[in-house]
Amino acid sequence: ASVGTKIQDIDPTKLSVTKTTTPKGLLPPEELIFGRNFTDHMLSLEWTASQGWLPSRITPYQNLSLDPATCVFHYAFEAFEGMKAYKDKEGNVRLFRPDLNMARLNKSSARIALPTFDGAAMIDLIGKFVKLDERFIPDARGYSLYLRPTMIGTQRTLGVGPPASALLYVIASPVGPYYPTGFKAVSLEATDYAVRAWPGGVGDKKLGANYAPCIVPQMQAASRGFHQNLWLFGEEEYVTEVGTMNLFAAIKNKDGQPELLTAPLDGTILEGVTRDSVLDLARERLVPQGWKVTERKFTMKEVADAVDEGRMMEVFGAGTAAIVSPVRRISWKGRMVECGLADNVEAGPITLQMKDWIEDIQYGVEEHAWSHKV
Ligand code: PMP
Repeated sequence: ASVGTKIQDIDPTKLSVTKTTTPKGLLPPEELIFGRNFTDHMLSLEWTASQGWLPSRITPYQNLSLDPATCVFHYAFEAFEGMKAYKDKEGNVRLFRPDLNMARLNKSSARIALPTFDGAAMIDLIGKFVKLDERFIPDARGYSLYLRPTMIGTQRTLGVGPPASALLYVIASPVGPYYPTGFKAVSLEATDYAVRAWPGGVGDKKLGANYAPCIVPQMQAASRGFHQNLWLFGEEEYVTEVGTMNLFAAIKNKDGQPELLTAPLDGTILEGVTRDSVLDLARERLVPQGWKVTERKFTMKEVADAVDEGRMMEVFGAGTAAIVSPVRRISWKGRMVECGLADNVEAGPITLQMKDWIEDIQYGVEEHAWSHKV
């Protein structure tokens, strides 16, 4: 605690709004491409080490002006979030579990010496921003407004140290359904030559610096005809995540009991909001039907054995972009591990069920505490 100066947290009542004088046209919903088009406005908050959070501003969407020596450009002082706003049948705008995104951004920021903030105050501000630009949210199921809260270090210095100033901003991009014509199961390449995250590292934080190094392995997998990398870890070849999603496998275990399996939060995987939601719903709704739900380390060999022994049910990725993404096969050590889908089927029953349950909550079809009306 410093003496004399008052370090402020975010005060959501101190918000200035400058509306655009040149509103953008709306694209036909079917022409939306992820992350290409943005709404009229943006929300910004500056922070300084001596004053804390300064009053927030909603302004027209605009370029940033930063000195070339700004620390974000040199030492990757950047953390971000990915979350969505949805429009329900009554026209209400809803966020899905925004408290988890704010908590995760705080953890990510803290890890790289960027400031933390009051998550509830920020949700309040994001709500005001989204309301202002709500005309950009197509009101059809599958459509949403993707929100990108971003925190950067803005101190102008090449010195390697904690930034004395930062900027937290939120931009918004209308998006359509990930699978506009229905599910398409993906093929994965089990990646062992490159490592996404490691114990004691920062793979469990949403830092920009974690993402750029994954592009070349992704391009290599794509050159061999695979949609995504399945990130393995260690000599044991533990299954961690797929691309930018958490991974679930539904397997009949050796006792014949169906088990929904995902890797534990051991620091090498991102704490996905969707992962947490799938686990909660599975515990609430599948366990009474005889399922076992487990967070534990499991290996690629265990997955392949389940396939070889006829115990594989289905495999899917889970993340904000697609909610769930069915996996058809995994290329591993020169063999193809087929993940339980018949040739003419694009998604297994648990994958479909999870998508429906989560989407019903996101669009307010099922009233649920996870859905935050703004
Ligand atoms: N893993 C990684 C590496 C990711 O980037 C994401 C997307 N944020 C996820 C998992 C899924 O997280 P969420 O469900 O919060 O979108």
